[in-house]
Amino acid sequence: MTILVLGGAGYIGSHAVDQLIEKKYDVVVVDNLQTGHSEAIHKQARFYKGDIRDKPFLENVFKKETINGVLHFAANSLVGESMEIPLHYFNNNVYGTQVLLEVMEQFAVKNIVFSSSAATYGEPKALPIMETAETNPESPYGETKLMMEKMLKWCDKAYGMNYVALRYFNVAGAKLDGTIGEDHTPESHLLPIILQTALGQRKELTIFGDDYSTPDGTCIRDYVHVVDLIEAHILALEYLNAGNGSNTFNLGSSAGFSVQEMLEAARKITGREIPAKVVERRAGDPSTLVAASEKARTVLGWEPQYTDMPTIIESAWKWHVNHPNGY
Ligand code: UDP
Repeated sequence: MTILVLGGAGYIGSHAVDQLIEKKYDVVVVDNLQTGHSEAIHKQARFYKGDIRDKPFLENVFKKETINGVLHFAANSLVGESMEIPLHYFNNNVYGTQVLLEVMEQFAVKNIVFSSSAATYGEPKALPIMETAETNPESPYGETKLMMEKMLKWCDKAYGMNYVALRYFNVAGAKLDGTIGEDHTPESHLLPIILQTALGQRKELTIFGDDYSTPDGTCIRDYVHVVDLIEAHILALEYLNAGNGSNTFNLGSSAGFSVQEMLEAARKITGREIPAKVVERRAGDPSTLVAASEKARTVLGWEPQYTDMPTIIESAWKWHVNHPNGY
């Protein structure tokens, strides 16, 4: 079975390719390498460099390969950046997905697993956040992910396309052998920034606000290990292949950790001091985001293995120590 992974050179996409190949799938990767890394692409995958908005390019890939299913990770994904350049996000994420769906329809490819986001919810009214909660995105990034979900819904109705939308909470960690991991420029995510500070590459961690209504005043997030996250994608693919209809699932661990707790856990694991100072809140940060993840467990049979915070941090630390300057 041949699976097309769009964005297979990125942090999450490269872990998907790795696990698909381990599970004996035949894998085709498309990536424009704008934020992805050629070194992250698995040697057993067939790679086509190009942009999903380039329809003739994408048609050529579908002509050459017999695609049985699609995993779609190709998108811009920074909340803050999306507030500055929203049109760039609508173009790359929404228009890019439109072109992809047009080509899938043209070639009668029916199954797609899609990277959505907890950012589709906005500020939660109740915790943990259920899949049935209202969607009120507070950033263009979250809005694009919701629009992409809606495009899939209407393509299902019109063309019988089947999709699983997976709403990620905070993805962290790296493959346990430390060979692939997170490498963003610039880096904006909490755990890599903490670990770069531990390596002495940054002077200090800046904690964005300690006056939230949480026990220690810093924001609480739900961290899910990238390997567990990808396991859910493969289960979603199998779920669609078994003939099940379109569905939406949260992917989180249902456990919340504060910024301060993450920092202290990283200090213990790395044995480094990791200087930190508190600064102003970052615009658009909700105080607490924790997923209800029972639906993925009961419907997909998802059983995350690496739910304890030390394993998440240790795997990321191994990657950072082995690749202090990324790929
Ligand atoms: N954060 C922080 N300092 C940083 C980066 C992040 O205090 O340098 C906080 C941020 O305010 C949020 C949490 O860490 O509460 C996780 O942020 P991240 O950007 O990793 O993910 P997000 O929750 O925005 O998707």
